[in-house]
Amino acid sequence: MRYIISLLVALLLSGKVFCWGFFAHEKINGYAIYLLPPEMLVLYKPSAPYLKTHATDPDKRRYILKAEGPRHFIDLDQYGRYPFVGLPRNWQAAVKIFGEDSLIQHGILPWRIQQVLAMLTGAFREKNKANILKLSADLGHYIGDGHVPLHTSSNHNGQKTNQHGIHGFWESRVPELLADQEWDFFLEKASYISQPAETTWKFILESALAVDSVLAMEAELSKSYAADQKFAFEWRNQALIRQYSSNFSKEYNKLLRGMVERRMRQSVQAVANFWYTAWVNAGQPNLSGMAGEAWIDSSQNELDSLSFFWRSQPVKGKSCD
Ligand SMILES: [Zn+2]
Repeated sequence: MRYIISLLVALLLSGKVFCWGFFAHEKINGYAIYLLPPEMLVLYKPSAPYLKTHATDPDKRRYILKAEGPRHFIDLDQYGRYPFVGLPRNWQAAVKIFGEDSLIQHGILPWRIQQVLAMLTGAFREKNKANILKLSADLGHYIGDGHVPLHTSSNHNGQKTNQHGIHGFWESRVPELLADQEWDFFLEKASYISQPAETTWKFILESALAVDSVLAMEAELSKSYAADQKFAFEWRNQALIRQYSSNFSKEYNKLLRGMVERRMRQSVQAVANFWYTAWVNAGQPNLSGMAGEAWIDSSQNELDSLSFFWRSQPVKGKSCD
């Protein structure tokens, strides 16, 4: 107990903050389900509550598992300037140059995504339902993290530029304010990724490229806001708390020209594509028996219509939420 408490204190003091926010992680996993083909929906749709609830497990694991922390970020600015050509994308090659300890210290998110993708593929091969769901939820989480610009920077919470709190502002406050009201999640059905490592590094580098804008726009906007306008007491989860005001948040979102929405949409698409790729690489195992016969019988009509929609583009990830 004492260990857990001191770990909690250490985490709080370190200023490390977590990932998209629970709200967005749940949405991302939840929307991704409906981009999957019918052959996967038979398992994923009845498992939607699990996949959403457990979308944040990796963050919770950080409190009790030391190895978990570095899996959620990569401080790319430690490796020079964009596009960081001095950092090999291959793990073994990177270890040869920097050593494992140093790589872990600065975060291993892109490699963790490859690792969990391989584990999920194995779970599909074994037709191990519990592992398929657990690893799908985990993979959705890490892929979501990889789309957040500040997860690729050592200035992850604006601590180096006097912008404390910007991490949660970008990935929690803005989506919670706007995702349900103003953003849409019309997306393409899941597609196969032939080179998952390249795809991963592509979205990680896109995140890195966006870091400057994330910070600069907040700094710029702050100049025209007094502190009591920038922050306000507003409701969040049935509690009145001091947070970035709605006006400031909406102005920031405008200045970023839809970046947060775009990255969230891309997260949903990528999660569906990676889940689908794991299933294909495992030989497209039949998942229909896994959800339980009772569920299949009672949901056959709904599944049939989802199958119909899946075959006609585009799919709206939001439609079945
Ligand atoms: Zn995370």
